[in-house]
Amino acid sequence: VTGASRGIGYFTALELARLGAHVIAVARTVGGLEELDDDIKALGGTATLVPLDLSDMKAIDALGGQIHERWGKLDILVANAGVLGVISPISHIKAKEFDKVMTVNLDATWRLARSVEPLLRASDAGRAILLSSGVAHSCRPFWGAYAISKAAVETLGRVWAAELVNTSVRINSVNPGATRTAMRAQAVPGEDPSTLPDPRDVAKKIVKL
Ligand code: NAP
Repeated sequence: VTGASRGIGYFTALELARLGAHVIAVARTVGGLEELDDDIKALGGTATLVPLDLSDMKAIDALGGQIHERWGKLDILVANAGVLGVISPISHIKAKEFDKVMTVNLDATWRLARSVEPLLRASDAGRAILLSSGVAHSCRPFWGAYAISKAAVETLGRVWAAELVNTSVRINSVNPGATRTAMRAQAVPGEDPSTLPDPRDVAKKIVKL
């Protein structure tokens, strides 16, 4: 599970652990990963913490190798980590900001897909879930880089799913809908978070897949 240090990824990792999965939890924030580890241990589960910046493509390649050496397979990938970038007209987005959103949301998801595909194939029923967003389709003004990246992630998921159709691996992308997390608060600052669905409930839907 990438982006497991907070928000939707945190509770998806926790729910998977509650159901008996050994969770490989990826994010940059060590404190968030350690908190997750404590919560997983409290449920009697186990996790491996991987502090990693997903803009480091070589590290993503290495992660696949490490999972192979240690477990020989991967049953479930939840490619959940993401960044919003700035809310602004596309003509005002700085190149560096656009690149950052594309790197974390799209490049890292493809790189991860490439890195773990042999491991998903080695599972008896490999599953990959890629986190998308409704703005991939609504094309909401000012959410440019983020919306573009998520549309690309969905296409990545569809192409990848088609390539693996004759294997036991299944790929799905999920739009979680507006959810009470730090990203949503950044995107819509004036909103009352208590009106939004809890990431714990969203996590249960993701885990069903
Ligand atoms: P969040 O609370 O901001 O969490 C994002 C996660 O991504 C964090 O764990 C963060 O960990 C990780 N991350 C970001 N940049 C990273 C990097 N460079 N390397 C490694 N990890 C990185 O966001 P969220 O709302 O839970 O969103 C989860 C997913 O759902 C995202 O893909 C988002 O686009 C999607 N989504 C959310 C909503 C919503 O309303 N919340 C709606 C539609 C789609 P660190 O900062 O510790 O690295």
